[in-house]
Amino acid sequence: KNSHPLLSIDGIEVVYDPSILGVADVSLHVDRGEIIAFIGANGAGKSTTLKAISGIAGTERARITKGDILLDQVSIAGMAPHRLTKSKKVVHVLEGRHVFSHLTVEENLRSGAFLRKPSRRQMEADIEEIYSWLPRLKDKRKIAAGLCSGGEQQMLAIGRALLTKPELVLLDEPSMGLAPIIVDEVFEIISRLNRELGMSFLVAEQDMRVSLAHAHRAYVVANGHVVLQGSAEDLAARDDLHDIYLGIA
Ligand code: ATP
Repeated sequence: KNSHPLLSIDGIEVVYDPSILGVADVSLHVDRGEIIAFIGANGAGKSTTLKAISGIAGTERARITKGDILLDQVSIAGMAPHRLTKSKKVVHVLEGRHVFSHLTVEENLRSGAFLRKPSRRQMEADIEEIYSWLPRLKDKRKIAAGLCSGGEQQMLAIGRALLTKPELVLLDEPSMGLAPIIVDEVFEIISRLNRELGMSFLVAEQDMRVSLAHAHRAYVVANGHVVLQGSAEDLAARDDLHDIYLGIA
């Protein structure tokens, strides 16, 4: 059962209005239970690809002009974000975290459950479960999110996303602006969620070191094209990886 990929992107091209190429040719797949690193330099097309999956691209006046995106065998290319959210299969943690800075940590977490409308008891249980994964958040539960550290805000953005109970989490640049030791901590949590809950992740990253260290497989995107793919182990061992990443190999 379930031998088809959870997510399958088949040769998409994405164009921003009026006619700016966001990505030219991206194909990838995520199997159930995989952590996939989607690595590339600034402007390579990582965010555009994630936005195409979650439907946010449409709100930025970008269109998928070629190819298709299948989630659990159903085409979601061009689907509105709210329709996709209702499917509860995929959640997108945007680059830059976007927590509600004037709300407390716990209020931010509650906002993540909003579409599921859990009972009060279920909500409390769900939030306790998030705290068990992300104990730093429990200490800060009454603190305004805007006063939390960058690492705590990243964990909050992830925790809020987990309250949608997704099968697949799209993470855009979780390392951004964080000290290396905190980046490691964030990726350790991703690995644990993957191992213990079987949750799948597609992680867009500029940081090759940490993303390859935690992923099962990886794709390198340069100038809007997937230029290399393989096991994270094989990619990490290549000495031309950096040039490929920069689009100069
Ligand atoms: P970053 O690490 O900076 O997020 P990225 O790999 O995510 O880089 P994208 O943001 O997907 O790259 O950008 C891919 C291409 O699409 C770039 O050429 C970029 O200039 C263009 N682009 C991105 N967003 C828009 C937009 N809203 N309007 C027009 N062009 C855009």
